[in-house]
Order: sequence, then structure tokens, then C-alpha cells
Amino acid sequence: MVYDTNNIFAKILRGEIPCKRVYEDEFALAFHDIAPKAPVHVLVIPKGAYVTYDDFILKADAAAVVGFERAIAKVVEITGVSSAGYRLISNSGVHGGQEVPHYHVHLLGGHVMGPMVK
Ligand code: 5GP
Repeated sequence: MVYDTNNIFAKILRGEIPCKRVYEDEFALAFHDIAPKAPVHVLVIPKGAYVTYDDFILKADAAAVVGFERAIAKVVEITGVSSAGYRLISNSGVHGGQEVPHYHVHLLGGHVMGPMVK
């Protein structure tokens, strides 16, 4: 899988484009989606250059995978959605509707999310 180093999230990671940061550690960066689809809509991205979920899970080392997953849980905590509930989504490729080719997880919450797929 070829990674495009000029994708918008790569530019955010390099600090070339600003973002509203929610959380950051050595494994992940989390920031508010520019076009939120729910009261809470945060994108969590790994620091490494991975295109999709499978690209990340199959290629990243175990520490990076665990670190990334824990970062998502920290963002759940920070955004306060844990008790009421939330939804995690990761779109991959054309059929998945992925717009930005840097692996990311959407954290959505703050209201009832409705049907999983319309
Ligand atoms: P995808 O469809 O790839 O899963 O989702 C990409 C998400 O990135 C979309 O929800 C879109 O609103 C968000 N997005 C695109 N460009 C930017 C940007 O420059 N900044 C931020 N914060 N979000 C962006």
C-alpha cells in the first residue's frame, strides 16, 4: 500500500496545517474534525505512515498498535462520552468512503448516533 506523504493528515502531523488538538502522545494525535457530524467528532491518527486499518495493524509494531488503541481510549475519557456511549468508525478505501489516505478513527458521540449504516 503506497502512502501519500502529502495527504492532509500528514501535513497536520508535520505541523504544516493547524488543527484543534484534543490529545497527543508518542503514538497518536487526536483533533476535532473540521466538519463535525456529531457534538463530539474527534479524529485519532497514528503518528506512523499507514493508509488503512489493515495497513496499520499488519505493519506497525505491537507497541504502536497498543499505544494507538490506548490513545483512543484516552480521547474517549477526555471528551466525556464514555458513560453515555459513543461510536468508533474507520473508513477504508473507495467502498469504505475514505477521503483522507492516512489511517484514522472517528470518535463520534454527544447524542444518539442512530442507525449504524444508512
Ligand atoms: P474519512 O472520510 O477519510 O474517513 O474522513 C476524513 C475526515 O477528515 C472527514 O470527516 C473530514 O471532515 C475531515 N477533514 C478533512 N480535512 C480536514 C482538515 O484539514 N482538518 C480537520 N480537522 N479535519 C479534516
